[in-house]
Amino acid sequence: MGPNAHRSTSRVERAVLAAVEAGLVGQENPVAGFIDIDGVRSTVRDLHAAFEGTEVLHAFAAKASPLVPVLRLLADEGLGCEVASAGELAQALAAGFQPERIVLDSPAKTQAELREALELGVAVNADNLDELKRLDVLVTPDTRAALGARVNPQVGAGTINAMSTASPNSKFGIPLDDPGSRDELIAAFAARPWLTRLHVHVGSQGCPLDLIADGIHAVYQLAEEINANAGRHQVTSIDIGGGLPVNFADDTVRPTFAEYAAVLRERVPGLFDGRYSLLTEFGRSLLGKNGFIIARVEYVKDAGGRRIAVTHAGAHVATRTVFMPQAWPLRVVAFDASGRRKRDRPLRQDVAGPCCFAGDLVASERELPELAEGDLVVLPDTGAYYFSSPFSYNSLPRPAVHGFRTTEGKTVFAPVRTGQTVAEIVSESGAEHRDALLAR
Ligand SMILES: *Cc1c(COP(=O)(O)O)cnc(C)c1O
Repeated sequence: MGPNAHRSTSRVERAVLAAVEAGLVGQENPVAGFIDIDGVRSTVRDLHAAFEGTEVLHAFAAKASPLVPVLRLLADEGLGCEVASAGELAQALAAGFQPERIVLDSPAKTQAELREALELGVAVNADNLDELKRLDVLVTPDTRAALGARVNPQVGAGTINAMSTASPNSKFGIPLDDPGSRDELIAAFAARPWLTRLHVHVGSQGCPLDLIADGIHAVYQLAEEINANAGRHQVTSIDIGGGLPVNFADDTVRPTFAEYAAVLRERVPGLFDGRYSLLTEFGRSLLGKNGFIIARVEYVKDAGGRRIAVTHAGAHVATRTVFMPQAWPLRVVAFDASGRRKRDRPLRQDVAGPCCFAGDLVASERELPELAEGDLVVLPDTGAYYFSSPFSYNSLPRPAVHGFRTTEGKTVFAPVRTGQTVAEIVSESGAEHRDALLAR
C-alpha cells in the first residue's frame, strides 16, 4: 500500500463514523451508498493532468454512475458525458452538460434517439453500417453534431468475457478484420464527408493496458488510411473509449491515468502530435474507488459448521459480485454499530445479503473480525456500477445515496439520491393497473 492508500482508508473510516452519527445508516436505513466528493474531484484532476497538452474531451460514461448530482459534479470539473440510452441522455442534460459535450453510443439506437441527438447537437458514434444509412437520411447541411463510427478492432478479450467488447464476435461496432470489412469502412467514410470521427472501446474491467493500446493503435491506423484515401483530413477526432481497470484488492490506484497515457504515448505517438483531437469515456476508473456501501448486519447464524452474517448488502446493490463472484470480488470491512472499525481476530464467515436465493453472498468464507447483529459491513470500491445501478429483485428498495466531503476536519453529507419508499415500489409495480387483468 502506498501513502495514498492509508489516506483513503482513514477517509472511509471517518466517513463511516460520521454517517452513523448523522443517522444515515442504522435500523431504519440498513443500507446506503456513499460518494467521496473530494476524492472524485481529485481523480478528475489526475485524468486532466495525464492528458495535459492534448486537445481532449473526457466524457464520463454515465452508466457507471447515472446519478444527476454526480454528473453535475463531473460537469463542474470540466468533463463531458458519454450516454447510451434516452434515459442517460436526459440525465446528462438535466445535469447541465452542453449537448456538444455529450456523446451518444449504444448498439441499439432507435430512429427517434438518433433524430433527437442530431437535433440537439449531441455527438453520435454509429455502431454499424445500417446505422450509418439511418444517419444518411437525418443529416442535413445544418447538422452540427460530430458523427463517427464505432470500430471493433477484434484484438481479443480481456479476463472477463462479458466485459470484453473487442473479441472477434463482440456485438459492438463494425468489425475491422472480417473479410472485406476494412474496405467497406473506408468506402463508408469516402461516401460520407460528414463522418469525421472513429470510436473504439476495447472493454470494461479485465482488459490489460496493452490490449487497450492494441485496439486504439488499430483504429488510429484506420484513421490514417481513411484520410490518405480521402486525400484530406476527414477523420479529425478519435474517441478512445474508457475501460481503465480498477484495482479491487486494496486501496492503491493502479493502473493510474498517468500510466495509461504513458503507454498510449509510447504505443500510438501519432495520437498526440496534434493532428487529432481525442475523446475518452472513462467510468469505473473515475468513480469506483470514490464510493462505498454501508450495510447493517441483521442476523448472525451458523449452518453446517459455517458462520453466516446476514446483511443488507446483496444482489440488489452488488449485482455483478453476487452473480459472478470470481470476476468481481469485493473487499468487506467490519465496523461496529457505532461506526468504529473492528479489529478483532479474524473468523471465517460468509457475508450474505437479503435476497431470497441461496447464492446471494457478497463474500464466501472470508476472514473478518467476528460480525454481530447491528454491526456494519463496508464494501469499498463500489462507487461505480454498484449502488448506482440497483437491481429491483424481491422488491427491495433502491437505497439512498449520499455524497460526503471534509471541511474544517468535519465530514459533511449532501443528498444524492433519496431512498425508494415502499409506496413508490407499489406504484412502480403497476398499482394504477390493479384490476387490468380481471376482465373476463
Ligand atoms: C461502459 C462503456 C464505457 C466505460 O467503461 P469503464 O470501464 O467504466 O471505463 C466507455 N465507453 C463505452 C462505449 C462503454 O460501453
